[in-house]
Amino acid sequence: MWAGRAQASLRVWALWPARVPGRRLLSCNTASQTRSNAPRCWNCGGAGPGGPRRGDVFFCPHCRVLQPPDPTRDYFSLMDCTRSFKVDTMKLQQRYQQLQRLVHPDFFSQRSQTEKEFSEKHATLVNEAYKTLLAPLSRGLYLLKLRGIVIPEGTDGELEKQFLVEIMEINEKLAEAQNEAAVNDIESVVSVKQKECISTASRAFEQDDFEKAKEMLTKLKYFSNIEEKIKLKKIPL
Ligand SMILES: [Zn+2]
Repeated sequence: MWAGRAQASLRVWALWPARVPGRRLLSCNTASQTRSNAPRCWNCGGAGPGGPRRGDVFFCPHCRVLQPPDPTRDYFSLMDCTRSFKVDTMKLQQRYQQLQRLVHPDFFSQRSQTEKEFSEKHATLVNEAYKTLLAPLSRGLYLLKLRGIVIPEGTDGELEKQFLVEIMEINEKLAEAQNEAAVNDIESVVSVKQKECISTASRAFEQDDFEKAKEMLTKLKYFSNIEEKIKLKKIPL
């Protein structure tokens, strides 16, 4: 079936050299293969079926040189995850390791300066994508951002007063906590609150209720903030 597809696309790309089709074609769909504006390899100028910078094609199929990151690709696509709040973190980690093995700058020390720079860019992007999708808060904020929704700083006014009082009280308790047991108690309360926010946000995303998701992530920001303070307080002086 794949060979058939490759043959079909070869007919479209009449000037395509016969030796070109390789296993890297597998990750590209037919639609992108027939696009006339497929990006060309910066090194040899090659393009065509599954040309450089499409899908998982990090290397030019002709000269095998590393291509720059695809600016149109979002983190979910890069990390091979469905665009959803629910992410299989095990799969995410495996993909992260797979990409690191592909683009890590250590593997390009003997290559051209341009390839070195591209590998740095890829590695930075992969790290950022992994970090963003791993934590529920940053993942949720990124999902909203993809929909053009951002949570600006200082949106306290939109949260109910009761919630803000609750946060204030937790902060006060934390400041007054004199021993580890007291800090641990606050930590468990915050952890439960975080889980509640995450599960409500998850349901909201499933129902495309982005206002609710936004509200839950704003609250989660507050709890993450307290979580950081708890971590600092736990560091022995
Ligand atoms: Zn090339």
